[in-house]
Amino acid sequence: MTPTDSEDRVSPSASDAIDSLANDRRLEILIALADREWEVQENGHVMSFTDLYDAVDVDSTSQFSYHLTTLVGRFVAETDGGYRLTYAGDKVVRAILSGLYEAPPTFEAVDVDGVCPFCREAALVADSLEERFVVRCAACDSTLLADAFPRSQAAHRSPSEIAESFGCGIWSTAVAVDGGVCPECNGVVDAAVDSHERDGLVVHTVAHTCRECRTMIHLPIEVFVALHPETAAFLHRHGISVLETPLWELFGSFTSGEWTTDVRSMSPLEARFELSYDDEMLVLEMDDDLEVTPVAKPSEIGMEANK
Ligand SMILES: [Zn+2]
Ligand SMILES: [Zn+2]
Repeated sequence: MTPTDSEDRVSPSASDAIDSLANDRRLEILIALADREWEVQENGHVMSFTDLYDAVDVDSTSQFSYHLTTLVGRFVAETDGGYRLTYAGDKVVRAILSGLYEAPPTFEAVDVDGVCPFCREAALVADSLEERFVVRCAACDSTLLADAFPRSQAAHRSPSEIAESFGCGIWSTAVAVDGGVCPECNGVVDAAVDSHERDGLVVHTVAHTCRECRTMIHLPIEVFVALHPETAAFLHRHGISVLETPLWELFGSFTSGEWTTDVRSMSPLEARFELSYDDEMLVLEMDDDLEVTPVAKPSEIGMEANK
């Protein structure tokens, strides 16, 4: 990003908004609104001026009014009945409550299922490294996956449960970007396919980038094949429930005889995938729009293969 781009994006309203939050009483006002939503179990619950005043520790009504006015319009909406959190106010409260601004979490390394695509050893470990959740191979020291994670993800979870939560979260991210939606801001994401070579292994990934918030998500191209209903049904017949299987457990399959990825052209993209489990085979193709199409019914190919 060039300096001009950054300057354009840091508008006076953005720095004013952040500035207006730099006060304990104002953050207390936002949290009081969220606490009441929680008590009555209603998002966007409206609190009267008096109720809100009573919930915050301030010396005078005039001081309270001043702080509240500073928040109104950006973080708090004023309605006929009183005050409620705006979307931005809600985001600020969730960030504070989930510990986003606290020290990053760490956890004890834990063994996870799956085979390393590089050395084929079943030696995968989930670990926290430099503020990131990583899945690495203890045998060859390759890092298979790395992702930032908030404190809330580690709270109330054992190391194994933290790993499981990532297993689930990655699929949720994949489903969102597959639908063109940024998992951070819901903006439009663009996709680009890339190939990387490591230790003689060629891996194709799809980079999804958000036009709005510039979030970048890199996932193996096979992930978007796995999400196709025909693939999901096929894998289910062979004992794999896609959305319940952490992605790193499939890495070994993506690079073994079970999955064959043949990228015939990068631009425009033309790729063919063959899945072969037990005696059954499924063949799918992906076009330049990352649209996945099964090319024949698995049973037909299975019959051919059995001839
Ligand atoms: Zn390895
Ligand atoms: Zn975004």
